[in-house]
Amino acid sequence: MSSDLAYDKAVGASIRSARQQKDMRQSTLAAKHGLSSGALSRVESGDLTAISKERLDAILNDLEVKVDSLPRSVVAYCPGTGCLTSSAVVQWKNTVAFVPMAVEVKDAAAKVHCHACGSELNTTCECGAAFEPGVLCCKSCGAAYCKPIQFDSLDEANRCVESHRANQRAYRDLYEHTVGTAKET
Ligand SMILES: [Zn+2]
Ligand SMILES: [Zn+2]
Repeated sequence: MSSDLAYDKAVGASIRSARQQKDMRQSTLAAKHGLSSGALSRVESGDLTAISKERLDAILNDLEVKVDSLPRSVVAYCPGTGCLTSSAVVQWKNTVAFVPMAVEVKDAAAKVHCHACGSELNTTCECGAAFEPGVLCCKSCGAAYCKPIQFDSLDEANRCVESHRANQRAYRDLYEHTVGTAKET
């Protein structure tokens, strides 16, 4: 029912620990909710596809497990125009646009900033639709995730793309280098 694996695993683990705290066997809880022990075992290992939303809610209620406080991970992007983390730069005549890179944020409620330009990462488009990785524009409202730049001449647009690609390479080398160094110490 959900595609957030870390979250699903946390829900499953909360069910298992709450059941164990109540000294309840897996088969007892499963039978109470009309499930096989195998299905409950899969749920407890984080496979929430093994069970309907209604059953899951009933089990959570039964065990008094609150899942609202569990962190949900989400896919975010940097909205900074020309940010060096953008996964691709696209040129259409005098217009240069940037495809944002998808970044996984472990806790949807946390504010996370881009490590390259410092902009606050977004998890949705300005219209409120969830961010979809790998594309320039939001499919719900058509707005670009990162504002495109319109140049007066094709030359300027070409220069922008060239220098952006060079800067991107330099930034990636630097980033990989510094992360590598940090790991060694
Ligand atoms: Zn950025
Ligand atoms: Zn939108």
